[in-house]
Amino acid sequence: MRSQRTDSAPGPSHHQGVDDRFRIPTCVACGAMGIPGSCDGGCREERLDLVGADAMAELAAERRRSRSAAVALRELVSATAGLTADGDSAEHAYPQLQAMAREALRTHPPGAAAGAPEPRAATVWWCPDCGGADAPQPCLGVCVWHPVDWVRRELWDTELAGWEADLEQELALRRFARQVAFVTPRPGRFQQSWRLISGAAEGLRSPAAS
Ligand SMILES: [Zn+2]
Ligand SMILES: [Zn+2]
Repeated sequence: MRSQRTDSAPGPSHHQGVDDRFRIPTCVACGAMGIPGSCDGGCREERLDLVGADAMAELAAERRRSRSAAVALRELVSATAGLTADGDSAEHAYPQLQAMAREALRTHPPGAAAGAPEPRAATVWWCPDCGGADAPQPCLGVCVWHPVDWVRRELWDTELAGWEADLEQELALRRFARQVAFVTPRPGRFQQSWRLISGAAEGLRSPAAS
């Protein structure tokens, strides 16, 4: 043992780490974390890098929002690309496309300007056999323990990378939708404008939605 376990820490409420979630009593004052180990002959200690499960849930919700916005905006792309064969029908249908674009933008507003939440992070020494966890901090001796849910940092990193990729697609689709929604081709210039818009639609169509 590198350090003394914090005896005042309450015990584990359920088996830790089963679904990569860890509920660990955490001191709100100093950040110490502890679950007393119970292995005969001493606990194993594995380094566990964690981030707060609350930020993880927030990020997952933001990713769902981004993906659902992309689905709606992609329908606009399909509708636009489906009209390229015949310029006259495109001119006729354009006001409907604009209405569709405005509706999609209205019902799927962009995410938080701040981007991804900033998670709290911690490293604990964890015993995979009994679920003991230890992250001592120099404390004033008046720890105030609260159960805090954590997830492995690897999960967070994967989710963050996925969200960044989803967001990039969403933003490209959003730019396109704004172009359709708010740029009305001038009379006599429709074909020229239409080539730009339908070209952009074709370009957005190609990458797999994944
Ligand atoms: Zn143990
Ligand atoms: Zn403390």
